[in-house]
Amino acid sequence: MTLITVGFVSVIPNRSVVVRAPGKLNLYLKVGDLREDGYHELSTVFQSVSLADEVTIAEHHELHVRLRGGGAVGVPTDRRNLAWQAAELLAEHVGRDPNVDIAILKSIPVAGGMAGGSTDAAAVLVGLAALWGEELEREELLELAAELGSDVPFCVFGGTAIGTGRGELLTSALARATLHWVLAFSGEGLSTPAVYRELDRLRAAGTQPKATDCDELLRALVSGDVSQVAGLLHNDLQPAALSLRPDLRRTLLAGREAGALAGIIAGSGPTCMFLAEDAHHAVDIAAQLAGAGVCQSVRAAHGPARGARVV
Ligand code: ATP
Repeated sequence: MTLITVGFVSVIPNRSVVVRAPGKLNLYLKVGDLREDGYHELSTVFQSVSLADEVTIAEHHELHVRLRGGGAVGVPTDRRNLAWQAAELLAEHVGRDPNVDIAILKSIPVAGGMAGGSTDAAAVLVGLAALWGEELEREELLELAAELGSDVPFCVFGGTAIGTGRGELLTSALARATLHWVLAFSGEGLSTPAVYRELDRLRAAGTQPKATDCDELLRALVSGDVSQVAGLLHNDLQPAALSLRPDLRRTLLAGREAGALAGIIAGSGPTCMFLAEDAHHAVDIAAQLAGAGVCQSVRAAHGPARGARVV
């Protein structure tokens, strides 16, 4: 421990860690039947991307959560925040008081389908364990993460992975190529439960067939053939998201007109994700999309990125 002497008084500086919390994309998302526990059975291919929140955790006299950044307005900073819940869960698990200040700099759009809240929670699990010097087994960390939410386990480990169950059962997948994405953000979020309800409604009306499996996509990821990957991107939630937000059709069309290899809705939306050939192509598409007036803002990002990590 470093002691700093100020006049005659020795002060112990607040210890802190900074954690990079990447957003995720679903390259493939198949939604199965509604289970008895209220969740849908999922089969998905996740990828972590370079667009990330930054979570700073410092020792404090009580638990405190602060958020800043573009989309942070209106996000709760109390128990309803997933970062808060993660701190309480880990503290209970290791028998400590959750007395930390958590400052989240948001870059991932809120309610944008990129698991912003889940990745902040993953960052708190990883960062707080580091701050307290607690070494958790992989399985232990996965179990805690799954208690917080279906996407949190993937956000801890990152990379590219297949998710089954409600998304929390993970198997690593090999992706040989770096994929360059262009992300079009909407000014207004979409509620994930509302999108699932809309999918159930469309299916009850008999209009939504289910997807085939993701084996071909996994093979394309291994071979690193980006145009093949583009043709195999799939999201079962897309029709439901478009039904709730028909304006997103224009965004998807504009991305394709800007030269994207493919474009789909990211997770439950409303973010639209476009695949580019390489980094230069992504910058070109991003510039054209930004000028098309079909979204609030545009960012280029690449994947796979590592999961939540202390920097
Ligand atoms: P997913 O892709 O996992 O369905 P999402 O990216 O669409 O999630 P989030 O950004 O996680 O959505 O936000 C969903 C809700 O969670 C919002 O209504 C928000 O108020 C709440 N929330 C709780 N904690 C956070 C957090 N740390 N960051 C963002 N939203 C949070």
